[in-house]
Amino acid sequence: MSLRRRTLLKVIVLGDSGVGKTSLMNQYVHKKFSQQYKATIGADFVTKELVIDDRLVTLQIWDTAGQERFQSLGVAFYRGADCCVIVYDVNVMKSFDTLDNWHEEFLKQANPSDPIKFPFILLGNKIDIDGGNSRVVSEKKAKDWCASKGNIPYFETSAKEDYNVDAAFLSIAKAALANEHEQDIYFQGIPEAVTEGEQRSGCAC
Ligand code: GDP
Ligand code: MG
Repeated sequence: MSLRRRTLLKVIVLGDSGVGKTSLMNQYVHKKFSQQYKATIGADFVTKELVIDDRLVTLQIWDTAGQERFQSLGVAFYRGADCCVIVYDVNVMKSFDTLDNWHEEFLKQANPSDPIKFPFILLGNKIDIDGGNSRVVSEKKAKDWCASKGNIPYFETSAKEDYNVDAAFLSIAKAALANEHEQDIYFQGIPEAVTEGEQRSGCAC
């Protein structure tokens, strides 16, 4: 057992209703997928611990409870975010067309000190559907959008097949860590005993 310092990172997940935000989080944190559509989830956030560059990191991943349909998520949702993940469905053009709105809404609500440098990540989800035959947004189109916003990293994922989910969230954690928020200083001061399990979960990525 060794003593480590814990860093708490707040990650928020945005995007149109139905694109798979909750499913991606469930797959990442609980290794579970459900076909059932549940617009409302009780918890505000889920947490996942991992080790990055010898640092114990707690990712606090905030989910919406269906209010994204009205784009009214409230300031508490955005406050203190260290990384913003935006998700669209590669099979639904409208979910891609609204990316600009989500990007702008985040910058307006969270008001980060350096909007140009603030870490965003784009996920194109549900690539498993129809073996890719029903997709309407090409990888190139998505990457062009990312380039136009200052080279946002892009991952294609399937929450259903657990494809690229770990890789995407590891990249999210690293981006959040690089942009660590000042208020995390409170948490950094708390030494934590690291168990073998926690170390393993970090190394698995
Ligand atoms: P949210 O509204 O963005 O949180 O979307 P949900 O996570 O609730 O997912 C909406 C629906 O899409 C549910 O029926 C999920 O089972 C389904 N879904 C989510 N991700 C995937 C995926 O990667 N592939 C497939 N085929 N279905 C998915
Ligand atoms: Mg949801």
